[in-house]
Amino acid sequence: MIRKDYHMHTTYCDGSNTAEEMVQVAIGKGMTEVGISGHSHTAFDESYCMSHEETERYRQELLALREKYRDQISVRIGLEVDRYSDADTDAFDYTIGSVHYIRVPDPRQGGAGAGADADAAATAAGAGAAVPTGCLPHTEDGQAWIYIPMDETAEITRAAADAYFGGDLIALAERYFETAGEVAKATGCDIIGHFDLLTKFNEKTEPPLIDTGDPRYIAAWKKAADQLLQADIPFEINTGAMSKGYRTEPYPAKPIRDYIRSRGGRFILSSDSHRTDTLCYQFDQYKSELE
Ligand SMILES: [Zn+2]
Ligand SMILES: [Zn+2]
Repeated sequence: MIRKDYHMHTTYCDGSNTAEEMVQVAIGKGMTEVGISGHSHTAFDESYCMSHEETERYRQELLALREKYRDQISVRIGLEVDRYSDADTDAFDYTIGSVHYIRVPDPRQGGAGAGADADAAATAAGAGAAVPTGCLPHTEDGQAWIYIPMDETAEITRAAADAYFGGDLIALAERYFETAGEVAKATGCDIIGHFDLLTKFNEKTEPPLIDTGDPRYIAAWKKAADQLLQADIPFEINTGAMSKGYRTEPYPAKPIRDYIRSRGGRFILSSDSHRTDTLCYQFDQYKSELE
């Protein structure tokens, strides 16, 4: 039985249970180690993450819980760090690097400082076109971006592909994996989170939202995997979308796991729990893949 789980959320971000409830249930399940990994701050979307102040309060509470329960379980103090987070991660035991968004230069800015991406997007969307619902405009250091969430709804992903990628979902996927491929360098993370998150809705859409058999799709994830393998840190086998009923398979998909393993990559099991009853969800089904 796997008794360790390093990916879970609490009421500090978008989870349903307190950190102490997560720790107590982990103890009750006989776990030897538990890592809590609240969502790090993203300036362009504060709806689900911790503010900078909350991040510090969260860390302080976890320090207290680590002391309180030290005879029963080892509590690790983590963060799930988005590729585009602005959080300071130095004070944490470990971080999970995740891509929840891709971004494109805002075509309404006339492509200022952006080059071919913005030109293509401006052509597709029209310079005066409205930002699709769910996409998030945000300006940083004088550059206007549109952030596109990858795990909100299939409709948002599709609308963003129409507005910014000429309707080409594989081009959107290529941008996703360019972003994923740089997550280790960009965040300095210790674990690679849900590598193919953009396929979250594939089992709920007909035909599947992202055609994972497309040769361009396969080339894109292979390139990202090769980049991340150089960091020599484990990839998650993440069962979070299974426990939430979106998928029957973990992230990443089996062909990706097989490829990573064939190149010497390692895995760690993560439940990505947002409530106490999904800790170590389905871990026994995949534990053989850790060997
Ligand atoms: Zn995540
Ligand atoms: Zn998570």
